[in-house]
Amino acid sequence: MTETQEQHLVIVGGGLVGGALACALAPLGLRISLLEARAPAQLQADDRYIALALGSQRILAGLGLWETIAPAAEPIRRIHVSDRGHCAFARIDQAEEGVEALGYVVAARELGQAIGAALARADCVERLSPARLIAHRVEGERVHLDIEDGGRRRHLATRLLVGADGSESRLRDALGARVWTRDYHQVALITRVRASHPQPGTAFERFTASGPLAFLPLPEGRYSVVWTCRPEDSAALLALDESAFLARLQEHFGQRLGELREPGPRSLWPLHLRLARKTTGERLVIIGNAAHQLHPVAGQGFNLGLRDVAALAEALSRSADPGAAPTLADYQRWRGRDALETAWFTDTLARLFIPRFTPLVAARALGMLAVDALPPLRQGLARRFMGCQGRAPRLARGLPLENPHA
Ligand SMILES: Cc1cc2nc3c(=O)[nH]c(=O)nc-3n(C[C@H](O)[C@H](O)[C@H](O)COP(=O)(O)OP(=O)(O)OC[C@H]3O[C@@H](n4cnc5c(N)ncnc54)[C@H](O)[C@@H]3O)c2cc1C
Repeated sequence: MTETQEQHLVIVGGGLVGGALACALAPLGLRISLLEARAPAQLQADDRYIALALGSQRILAGLGLWETIAPAAEPIRRIHVSDRGHCAFARIDQAEEGVEALGYVVAARELGQAIGAALARADCVERLSPARLIAHRVEGERVHLDIEDGGRRRHLATRLLVGADGSESRLRDALGARVWTRDYHQVALITRVRASHPQPGTAFERFTASGPLAFLPLPEGRYSVVWTCRPEDSAALLALDESAFLARLQEHFGQRLGELREPGPRSLWPLHLRLARKTTGERLVIIGNAAHQLHPVAGQGFNLGLRDVAALAEALSRSADPGAAPTLADYQRWRGRDALETAWFTDTLARLFIPRFTPLVAARALGMLAVDALPPLRQGLARRFMGCQGRAPRLARGLPLENPHA
């Protein structure tokens, strides 16, 4: 008979969110297994750049990761929002908010490496990769898991099972949660370019007929580009040679940054909204994309996932039994509103800027000008971009977790 290993916590999914949760909990001395279906080299293949909100930077600092990430992070000091073909625009500036930056742009790969290096130093975290959850069942105060670890079947038992298993989460299905879904019938084309007249520190969000087009600042006049387009157009955009692709991108973005050059590799990401209306069950909780997959307009998905991490770590730090029902209920109450509001915000932005219906286009332009002219509207939007709304967890306030397990 195979031996059963007893853990306090098993996290299924070693992406950015699952990995960050293991980092947050490691100082509490809990015994944790982190299961990741992909091999480490596959995880390193993510070539995206992530717009980190200021609130996320504070959480990463609380996790002790920011020092490693900071040298490669590019500050976002201003955000310029515009509507292609119309003169309306809105600007948000760090100086008005009294902060050093509204956020930072960081390579997903750098984030993954910083998390991986921290976990390598955490004795209480066992990283299993490639490893997969096969089945689980709750018995009394434990969840029993069958896993496949490097081709070998094993059994684990845990007080709490955390699903950080991404947008196709099987643990979300196991919860039986109702899921609010929308297929945007759009894909995001990701690439990088260099600009002849860069505006350091300024991120651009430009709304076009096919969807939003974002330019995130990188060092040395380069930009990470997230171009939302129709699936039927994306294959053609991938197939274009470099100069034809640049010409098309320039036509959509305009001349604000001068001439666009040196395009990087292009990749496509399908876009959906999935919002689980319930994120906890018996000794089970889902976080990150497993709980909410968002449209990347306004770069909110990972930021929201990191706020899940900080809140869950704090809720668990206060409980002797990590899977206790009141602990999970506290967590769900804390996080529900942020997830719902952020999903609503990104979904509205993603859909508002697509129609060409003239009265709506005019209303949209007026809305943008109002945001630019009225400080309270601008500040409301800035706080959302900075991820600073609602009750801030200890980690986001620079405070360590309290540790009843010590
Ligand atoms: C084009 C694009 C641009 C984006 N830009 C931004 C941005 O600028 N800012 C921002 O905040 N967010 C952004 N996002 C969103 C962000 O990328 C995601 O929210 C975030 O990466 C989700 O991380 P996660 O760990 O929850 O999920 P994933 O990254 O999907 O990780 C889930 C992991 O679970 C593993 N897994 C699944 N099933 C199992 C199993 N049974 N056993 C073991 N392991 C399993 C998978 O292999 C995977 O590694 C963007 C998204 C897209 C598509």
